[in-house]
Amino acid sequence: MYKVVIGLEVHSELKTETKCFCSCENKFGGEPNTRCCPVCTAMPGALPVLNKKAVEYAIKAGLSVGCRINEYSVFERKNYFYPDLAKAYQISQLEYPLCVGGHVDIEVDGKKKTIRLDRIHLEEDAGKLIHSPNGTMVDYNRAGVPLIEIVSMPDIESAEEAVLYLQKLRATLLYLGVSDCKMQEGSLRCDVNLSLHKEGEPFGTRTEMKNLNSFRAVYRAIKYEAKRQEEELEAGREIVQETRRWDDNAGKSYSMRSKEDAQDYRYFPDPDIVPIIVRKDYIEKIQKDLPKLAYQRAEEYVKNLGLTEQDALLLTNEKYVSDYFDQVIKEFNEPKFVCNWILGEVFKKLNTLDNEEIEILISPKNMAKLLKLYHAQTIGQNVARKLLDELWGTDDDPEIIVKEKGLAQNNDAKGLEEIIKNIMQNNQKAVEELKNGNQKTMAFFVGQAMKATSGKANPKLVNEIVQKLIK
Ligand code: ADP
Ligand code: MG
Ligand code: ZN
Repeated sequence: MYKVVIGLEVHSELKTETKCFCSCENKFGGEPNTRCCPVCTAMPGALPVLNKKAVEYAIKAGLSVGCRINEYSVFERKNYFYPDLAKAYQISQLEYPLCVGGHVDIEVDGKKKTIRLDRIHLEEDAGKLIHSPNGTMVDYNRAGVPLIEIVSMPDIESAEEAVLYLQKLRATLLYLGVSDCKMQEGSLRCDVNLSLHKEGEPFGTRTEMKNLNSFRAVYRAIKYEAKRQEEELEAGREIVQETRRWDDNAGKSYSMRSKEDAQDYRYFPDPDIVPIIVRKDYIEKIQKDLPKLAYQRAEEYVKNLGLTEQDALLLTNEKYVSDYFDQVIKEFNEPKFVCNWILGEVFKKLNTLDNEEIEILISPKNMAKLLKLYHAQTIGQNVARKLLDELWGTDDDPEIIVKEKGLAQNNDAKGLEEIIKNIMQNNQKAVEELKNGNQKTMAFFVGQAMKATSGKANPKLVNEIVQKLIK
């Protein structure tokens, strides 16, 4: 009877070469404190210089979700003290963000639903604290990495919708190529704001949940928090506006601190950085050069390649799959055949792997070779499947393997006919049964032919020959 209201704040690290305000390398990991300089460690007198690429990427992200780009925007200092932040302030945006408005559309129960965006602003990431038995250490490699914060309006109404929204947003950023979006590495992070209210009444007090490191965690945290708030309200207690930390192992969230307001951070324009003026023609150029997004690729697959809409959607869900498909069909132009194989066999294989770092570990070139062999019936389905396993993670050439191991199918119609005639002579009863229309007997003949050829007979061909011979 309570309505759930959710707004998400998504942080996504931009994959620029260098950091947002200095020339340090922007890359995940590395020996602690090896990718930093006087600017990102706040040495006195060091001055920030804005990375133009970060601005371009943020605008790209904004345009792809229909934001209006502010031609005038300002960096502000968000002041707070915490050891992961050497300056004791984060360079962020408040009053004049780079992008405003926009929306992400999701499909809920077959219907389109629009989640409006409030804004997308550019800011810098903080360092990382490493807790050890000897104490807490700080690694500033991540300090100053450019981030966009994508703030949704409170339009999300369930855990399912939140995950759909995140998946759509992640796919969009990946297609744009502006972020790696790896939740386990923290290049995509998400805070969940959630409140409950009764139909017809104003929105309730919200809590904000942090430390959500996977879509599954977001889903579970929302279910948990909605239930917790409901129990509080039912017990006649008020919801405290607070920040809560999700513990994924415990499946619970804990209160961290009472929620701070913008005024607590004493934001003010950073006097070290001049306002950003982006010209209209610059925005137009970025708009014009936007890469194709998932839905655009899917449309083309249907229109140009004749794939079904469902297959096209499945292929474009993940950019790496769509990229892979594009590369394979460049070598072997049988889109439907390649698509079926990827959605069937390759997905089956991917599903057996650990969820974190999924990759297709056969080069598109070798995959094309494998599929050519299969398509031409040089190898049968079983061998093709086995080869997929065998080639996975190697650079081996399927053509050579098939030759070396003698895996080629027996497509010699004349030879097979002799073999089958022989089988029939020795199995007159089965021949009669087949003639009487007992199609199950067909399996018997295929089996026998396989046996006689050590499994290499082309089953389709065997089938055809048997049909021909009993006529
Ligand atoms: P803050 O500056 O405290 O983070 P914002 O106004 O930027 O607050 O809102 C942060 C997020 O909270 C947004 O995604 C917004 O949609 C969401 N939000 C605002 N009010 C509510 C509410 N009553 N219930 C759930 N989410 C809300
Ligand atoms: Mg916020
Ligand atoms: Zn630096």
